[in-house]
Amino acid sequence: MTKRRIFSAIAVLVLFLGLTLTIGQRWIGDRLFNRAVERNAGVDVTAQLPDGLHAYVCGSGSPMPDADRAGPCIAVLAGKQGFIFDAGSGSIRKLGRMGFPMNRLQGAFLTHLHSDHLDGLGELMLQAWMAGGRSTPLPIYGPPGTNRVVAGFIEAYDIDRGYRIAHHGPEVARPGGFGGEAMIINTTGPEVVYQSGGVTIRAIPVDHFPVDHAFAYRVEYSGRSLVISGDTKYSQDLSKFANGADVLFHEALNSSMVGKIGESLEKRGIKDGAKIMADIPDYHTSPEDAARVAQSSGVKTLVLYHLVPAPPLRVVERAFIGDASDLFDGQLKVAEDGMFVSLPAKSQTVEIDQLL
Ligand SMILES: [Zn+2]
Ligand SMILES: [Zn+2]
Repeated sequence: MTKRRIFSAIAVLVLFLGLTLTIGQRWIGDRLFNRAVERNAGVDVTAQLPDGLHAYVCGSGSPMPDADRAGPCIAVLAGKQGFIFDAGSGSIRKLGRMGFPMNRLQGAFLTHLHSDHLDGLGELMLQAWMAGGRSTPLPIYGPPGTNRVVAGFIEAYDIDRGYRIAHHGPEVARPGGFGGEAMIINTTGPEVVYQSGGVTIRAIPVDHFPVDHAFAYRVEYSGRSLVISGDTKYSQDLSKFANGADVLFHEALNSSMVGKIGESLEKRGIKDGAKIMADIPDYHTSPEDAARVAQSSGVKTLVLYHLVPAPPLRVVERAFIGDASDLFDGQLKVAEDGMFVSLPAKSQTVEIDQLL
């Protein structure tokens, strides 16, 4: 065989393999996709869950930009009823990926009206309407002013509402199910704000000055309970409120890390940013103080969330929590998006899994 023939044969072989690989990749991709759809689309992954109280960390972050952490959001499934506490940016998509059953959503609860806790509210109202199949607006519980926030989101989504009804028809995009209905909470002490079907939700004011109204919530179902701090300074009242709960989700800010960011900004002449870094520690709680709250309330598990700054790596988590683990005898976890905390009824166990 001449050199030219050998070269031609190799060229044909390479072309053939290339074509096979391209066509094969497409075939494999199609098969994988179809299989994943058949297995997952429309499947209620919560059907296998035991009866109990289950919490989804749909957002463990803060206003600081972070590709891995959505804004603050904890969703709860209590028996067959679903609730969402805060809807930070990006959290509702995470919740969808975690398999939260939007059709069981009974209401959303806002801890306070800082934007990082409600900037996903439009997406939540849309998902509650379309994925949740609602025919009445979603009840949205929150402090005075929640009515203005909800009205604003309704206005912002009003054009989209019309398009969806026109496209899918009113039998699917039920016109009455769009939007939210503000349910104002204005309590000065622990107060029941929701009670139905064996689920009790209480609210208590916490100190997040200069925010006028900020609440922590406690959810109880079938002998199990969890508490969500929202944004607050170190609070003895919160400790009493969380007494004996199974899990406390508490916000956490590491002031020396925030101070370090401030110093760097100052050195680079970014004075506004440095001022903001200097301002924020005084209305949040350190990991150590969150541990003190957990210890005095006797909770089994403390999950730190709304992390400021969010540790970018596992190894930084240890530095973030500082001495917190020495101050709390129970289980201490740093939240990640996708964390799933399960409290089965008629049991004392706290099971933690990672869904994302
Ligand atoms: Zn806040
Ligand atoms: Zn916040």
